[in-house]
Amino acid sequence: MPRAGTVPSADAVLTPPAFTPDTVAPARRPWARHRGATRRGATIETYEVFAIKYASLANRKASENFIGGDPHESASDLDYFVWLARSKARTFVIDTGFDARVGARRGRRMLNPPERGLKLLGVDARKVKDVIITHLHYDHVGNFGLFPSASLHLQDEEMAYATGRHMAQGFFNYAYEADEVAAMVREVYKGRVRFHDGDAELAPGLSLHRIGGHTKGLQAVRVHTRIGWIVLASDAAHLYANMNETRPFPIVFDAGAMVEGYRRLRELADAPELIVPGHDPLVMRRYAPPRAGLRGIAVRLDRRPRL
Ligand SMILES: [Zn+2]
Repeated sequence: MPRAGTVPSADAVLTPPAFTPDTVAPARRPWARHRGATRRGATIETYEVFAIKYASLANRKASENFIGGDPHESASDLDYFVWLARSKARTFVIDTGFDARVGARRGRRMLNPPERGLKLLGVDARKVKDVIITHLHYDHVGNFGLFPSASLHLQDEEMAYATGRHMAQGFFNYAYEADEVAAMVREVYKGRVRFHDGDAELAPGLSLHRIGGHTKGLQAVRVHTRIGWIVLASDAAHLYANMNETRPFPIVFDAGAMVEGYRRLRELADAPELIVPGHDPLVMRRYAPPRAGLRGIAVRLDRRPRL
């Protein structure tokens, strides 16, 4: 576990330490020079982090997972997740999944509604105070109405993109639902949306980082855990292969920014294997369920992955 004034060694990252409050030295952190970085000496919380799988999609072609992929070659399924990060003091839900009816219209079958997965982990959606929306695509924002007590954390750039000129083009609007974007605009008027511009620390040990590319205003989430700083990439990397082989996903606003985003994810995480892609079925295999009864439903991301 890094102490103020030290750089974490590879061993420190790979060896899960005991739970202890900790501090970081902002100057040593690559993102610390940006606005919203951890204040020097702030006590860092350690989070439990979970991926909760709620749907999956099979029969993919390589051309659907990679720009330039072979349309005749079969490729990885996609899994659909929401994520949960909680410390002793705070609970953050990251994304809210697709609405079941919208998913069905788009040929995606709901396996386990996100609110049920959260409930199995002891979280009542109605009481959650902070929901991070990584971006406004239908499969990330569909059920935000189930969180009536929550502030909704969103990037300025994502709202501007989802309501701006590019949405007149099917290529860019394909994964947005106009009704859901409009509903989010109404939440702005109610004062529930908390906007962020770039990097922002929401709590000591949890921060947001805009990574354009997939959409203009997508944000990834960096979380301090007992195995080090992990990064929930969301759709900054759909699959491990997208980032590890530098083969961008075809739903993209800016391919250059998407590729640059893979570098940024590696900069934010304590080790490359601590980046969690947004839709890769391997996540459910590399990480263990929090308990046997949750096999196939949720995995614990603050335990070391099996590679
Ligand atoms: Zn997306």
